[in-house]
Formats: sequence, structure tokens, C-alpha cells
Amino acid sequence: MSKMKALVCRECGKEYPPKAIHVCEMCFGPLEVKYNYEEIKGTISRKKIEQGPNSMWRYIDLLPVESTAIIGPHAGLTPLVRAKNLGAFLGIDELYIKNDTVNHPTLSFKDRVVSVALTRARELGFETVACASTGNLANSVAAHAAAAGMKCYVFIPADLEAAKVLGNLIYKPNVVEVEGNYDDVNRLCSEIAGEHGWAFVNINIRPYYAEGSKTLAFETVEQLGWRTPDQAVIPMASGSLLTKIWKGLHEMHALGLVDSVRTKINGAQAEGCSPIATAFKAGRDFFKPVKPKTIAKSLAIGNPADGYYALKATAESKGAMDAVTDEEVVEGIKLLAQTEGIFAETAGGVTIGVLRKLVKQGLIKKSDLTVAYITGNGLKTQEAVVDAVGRPFRIQPSLVNFQKTFKMGKNSGGDS
Ligand SMILES: *Cc1c(COP(=O)(O)O)cnc(C)c1O
Repeated sequence: MSKMKALVCRECGKEYPPKAIHVCEMCFGPLEVKYNYEEIKGTISRKKIEQGPNSMWRYIDLLPVESTAIIGPHAGLTPLVRAKNLGAFLGIDELYIKNDTVNHPTLSFKDRVVSVALTRARELGFETVACASTGNLANSVAAHAAAAGMKCYVFIPADLEAAKVLGNLIYKPNVVEVEGNYDDVNRLCSEIAGEHGWAFVNINIRPYYAEGSKTLAFETVEQLGWRTPDQAVIPMASGSLLTKIWKGLHEMHALGLVDSVRTKINGAQAEGCSPIATAFKAGRDFFKPVKPKTIAKSLAIGNPADGYYALKATAESKGAMDAVTDEEVVEGIKLLAQTEGIFAETAGGVTIGVLRKLVKQGLIKKSDLTVAYITGNGLKTQEAVVDAVGRPFRIQPSLVNFQKTFKMGKNSGGDS
């Protein structure tokens, strides 16, 4: 029997064969992958994982693919950085940054979900892949499709950052800029997906795609020496990543890889697009769609597909959610860079900003083992910080000029 049992409706529980489908035909609920945990339990172990490849594919037993012909075999297993300086600044004894700014090959967490989605898409016989994206997803789909020799269409909103547009074009997929926001792009793509027999990674392949996010939970636990953190702070766009980190932690528990799950799951959004965090703070279990207006474009989904499940996971874990202003996003980016030497994109600024707020509110305590998920690279969103970092000192090429600039005399002001 295969480790993958079926696709199952998250609402009514009806099961389907694991094909390229994503909604239940009975109740329109979203489908997710169901595994044979009994069978997996017989083969998986800490030791086997530790001896696996130096990538997220060491967790292949818990990923929805059947072959070993992996597209994107180097994704994941990014550093878990002990953030002593930022921890001291915020007043947390044990703070870690899960650093997906250096993910392979396109510098964001999306390389995890895309390697799973494209591997599965090819298994299912697709030759053309596509996606609706807020930026990072398109970059990753375009890069992986190029390497795999698959045809590719990526759909993005027309107001994306320059590096994210170029970061598509360089791989030569068909790049379609849609005059509208992500929710418009997504609606259009749902129609196109119905007409053309393509693998849309976040539409008809979504149940498989989403599973790739679990590897962020698996890796964190392994890198902590098989401990679950007390607190996780996670950025939310559709809310999928957050729900899958929660699912991943519980899978590890069910398989005996960890003794307990004590993690509080905390969700982070930008105020200019915070439908999920706003609902949480109002004590609602449903969100109201919004029109996004924020510099955190990678998180700008006004009608988040997994918003309801993100609210549920956070409540179950007794965690919290919050949102930050665009100014706080920029502050967060600078703080992380200047304390830990990690240059994150705007989503990282959202995470650090919300982490800061949760500490201030006493929801994250000094003694809590805390992990902040930094999901994208700052070189892709330079527009957000270009006016907030000052300028270089510009000098004539002479010693005197240099010393004058730094108000140094001869043989003074040095470190030696
Ligand atoms: C896509 C993305 C996320 C999270 O997306 P979800 O839709 O919530 O899974 C977080 N950070 C970055 C940088 C992203 O590109």
C-alpha cells in the first residue's frame, strides 16, 4: 500500500483518489492529503531522517509524492539561527530565526511548496505548470519549471516589486501581469484552470503544494534537538503555511518523533491586509475579505483561502495573532538586519514586528523557546526600505578626505 491514502474533504470527510482536484464535489470544502500513518510509523525514525539528504526531502515519508524523481531536490533544510542579539533586545532567553531567506533556488519559503507541487504534477502526467502568485510563488514555479523542462505560465498582480518581476522573466516562463490585486489574479486563474488542462500549483494541485509547508515544522523540531518550540510566529497570506506548521507538529507527535506538542502558534499580518488577524482579535471564527493596501505585497491576500483554518489552529494552540503598520514592517526589517545580519523581505518585517508586539503584551514570555519564521529575502523587496537606510559616505579617493569625513586626525580614531 502507498503512504498516501487519499484526498479527504476537510469539512465532510468524503475521500477521493489522489488526483489533481482540490474541492469536494459534495460540500465544496477544501481537500487535503490523508496518509497511512500506521504504515509510516513502521518505517520512519529520528535516525533515518538524520541520515537522509541535506534538504527537506529527508522528510519524504510525510510528503505526498510517490516517485523519487524529485523536482527541486535541494529545497529546505535552511539554517535555524540562534538569535542572541535580537533575543536580548526583545527580552527572550531562547530565540531562533528559521531562515528561509536563503532557501534554494529562489530565496523564499515557496521553494518548499513548489518542489512538492511540481514533483507531484509531473507524476500525475502534467507538462504545463501555472500559478497565481503574490510574487515569490511565481519566482519559484518559474525556476523549477525551467530546471524540469516544463512549460510554465505565471500570473502576478501588475504592481509587484521590480526584483520579483525580473525574478520571473529571467527563467523565460510566460509571465502574465494582471491589472488587479492578487484576489483578482486568483479568480482569473480559477477560470483558466477550469478551461486548460494545466497543473495550477495553488489551485488544482493545492492539496499537495500545501503539504510542503510542513517541512518548516519538521526541520525546526529536528534542529532544536527533537524539541517543539513554546512559541512560533508565522506570517500569513492565505494562512496555509500556519495551518501546515500546526499539522506537521502533530504528525511528528502521532509518529512518536516528539513526546508532546506544546507550541503556541501565532499569526502575523500587515495592518493594510489583516483579515485573519482582525477576525482573531475580534474573537470571530470567520474573516471578512478586505482590499489589500500594504508594502508587504507577498502577504497581500484579501480573501485568504485558509483563513478559517488558520483561526482554528491558532485558537487550538492557545496562540495569538496581531498586525503591524507599514512603518513597523520597515522597523522590523532593519532590526533583524542590524541585530542578526539577516536581510528579510517585507514578510519578515511583519513577523519581527508582530513578535515584538506579542512580547510587549506579555503573550510571549522571557523563558519561552521561540521560533520566528523568516520566509523571504530582502533583496527582492528593496523598494520597501530604500528610503529608510541612509546613503553611503561619498569621498574623493584620498586619505585626507577619508579622515575628514570621519573626523579623524592622523593616527587617531583607529581600532588598534
Ligand atoms: C507565500 C508567503 C507566505 C505565506 O503564505 P500562505 O499563503 O499563508 O501560506 C509567507 N511569507 C512569504 C515571503 C511568502 O511568499
